[in-house]
Amino acid sequence: MHYPLTIRDFLDRAVHVYPDRTAVVDEPDQPAAPLEGVTYRRLGELARAQAARLDELGVPEGGRVAVVSQNSARLMTSFFGVSGWGRVLVPINFRLTRPEIEYIVGHSGAEVVYADPSCAAVLDGLDVKHKFVLGEDDALFRPDAEPRPWAAPDEAATATINYTSGTTARPKGVQLTHRNLWLNATTFAMHASVSEREVYLHTLPMFHANGWGMPYGVTGLGGRHIVLRQVDGAEILRRVAEHGVTLMCAAPAVVNAVLDAVTTWEGEIPGRDRVRIICAGAPPPTRTIERILTELGWEFLQIYGLTETSPLLTINRDRDEWAGLTPGDKARKLSRAGVPGLGVRLEVDVDGEVLAASNHNLDGYWEQPAETAAAQAGNWFHTGDGGHIDDEGYLVISDRKKDVIISGGENVSSIEVEDALTGHPGVREVAVIGTPDDKWGELVTGLVVADEGVTAEELIAHCRTRLAGFKCPKRIEFVESLPRTATGKLQKFKLREPYWAGHERQVH
Ligand code: AMP
Repeated sequence: MHYPLTIRDFLDRAVHVYPDRTAVVDEPDQPAAPLEGVTYRRLGELARAQAARLDELGVPEGGRVAVVSQNSARLMTSFFGVSGWGRVLVPINFRLTRPEIEYIVGHSGAEVVYADPSCAAVLDGLDVKHKFVLGEDDALFRPDAEPRPWAAPDEAATATINYTSGTTARPKGVQLTHRNLWLNATTFAMHASVSEREVYLHTLPMFHANGWGMPYGVTGLGGRHIVLRQVDGAEILRRVAEHGVTLMCAAPAVVNAVLDAVTTWEGEIPGRDRVRIICAGAPPPTRTIERILTELGWEFLQIYGLTETSPLLTINRDRDEWAGLTPGDKARKLSRAGVPGLGVRLEVDVDGEVLAASNHNLDGYWEQPAETAAAQAGNWFHTGDGGHIDDEGYLVISDRKKDVIISGGENVSSIEVEDALTGHPGVREVAVIGTPDDKWGELVTGLVVADEGVTAEELIAHCRTRLAGFKCPKRIEFVESLPRTATGKLQKFKLREPYWAGHERQVH
């Protein structure tokens, strides 16, 4: 017999085994009224009520439902209330501008868009069948009706489409199936030793690769979710103390924010010998890892992956063989991306690009067959990252083949920023590159050939009208000309060289 793996399994198990446990502690400080008393029984009821509401709106199985929101219990519920009944969730980055969101809504063909009250302006004039502000009366839930069952649950059905900035001017929709998400969530939970005693702090945006799958995995095992709306180092430490947090996932910029907060924190650092922090998005510096081990006393894990791989590809975690190493030596070992997760195969091709085969590789890019075929050529997913596998079998990411900048854990397409800058009438030529930065990892930097009198401030302000703040250049440098090949192609590696000289890796 073959039973489909669907993300409903995670919710159903939690409702059955842990009905009276607190499932989600919603963010207290948010514009919508927080959802109170969310036990697993209640989370199950809310998901059903959301599915019933979508029935009422006439959204069919396979229909897309977009949510633009900071982390919240309502967004968390939507992972189950939308996908659990055969519809497709499209979680959208709340930092994007109106035109960026409009593109994603149009491209995904979403029939419904929900927005957090703080993003409600994006709904004005938005061309979509149904739009609602989260937290307003009966926008999300219809508690008085039973949802229509999903007619034929199918693990190959798309569960989510996550838009990610990559090598094209427009973001691409990564189509992930129930099977992709199921296997990612279970193998990740296993490698991270998630248990029924887990208290999971959402330091990662849920929209980003579905919170790496932890909303599913932690739920299926009966752990507790602590929702965090806004990243702030001291607030993270306070919540760790208040809720007895045991686990969190974070980009290096979040880790830096916590380490900054340590310097002014009074008293003992909470969570010593209890918290595990899982980091990805960029390779964290060895010194940062050492500080986590010594100053916080937290366990440090690193994973590597992409939205396209659901995301887990590799994991790096302390192991028995390293007993007796100094924190500095352990940190050096942990600074590598890691070893393949269960069921993942990796290879590095002759050009140094990392290739991956796994059951959580994407189904495809939504309505972009050519992009899909290119990314999956030869039955390998082409990550666009450069690296090598060392003599201990660990993957080390040292370079990026694709024209993407990663700033504060979010991908920025250089081409998209170049497009925006070229839209300014005083700009003649432009190249956008990432330059190393202690706080953000990489800084979006524009090298510009411009008419006399054009200022950096005016160019940045111009970009702000078109692009989300995190994509806008933070640094503009005016140059006489840009080096090109004989065929007119920009030589970005040459442009990057002076900024990255002396750095061990060419990515941050
Ligand atoms: P995203 O799809 O937004 O999650 O971004 C995925 C990209 O983040 C990868 O292609 C890498 O360039 C980068 N990345 C993720 N994890 C790591 C890591 N542990 N070390 C280095 N780069 C990473």
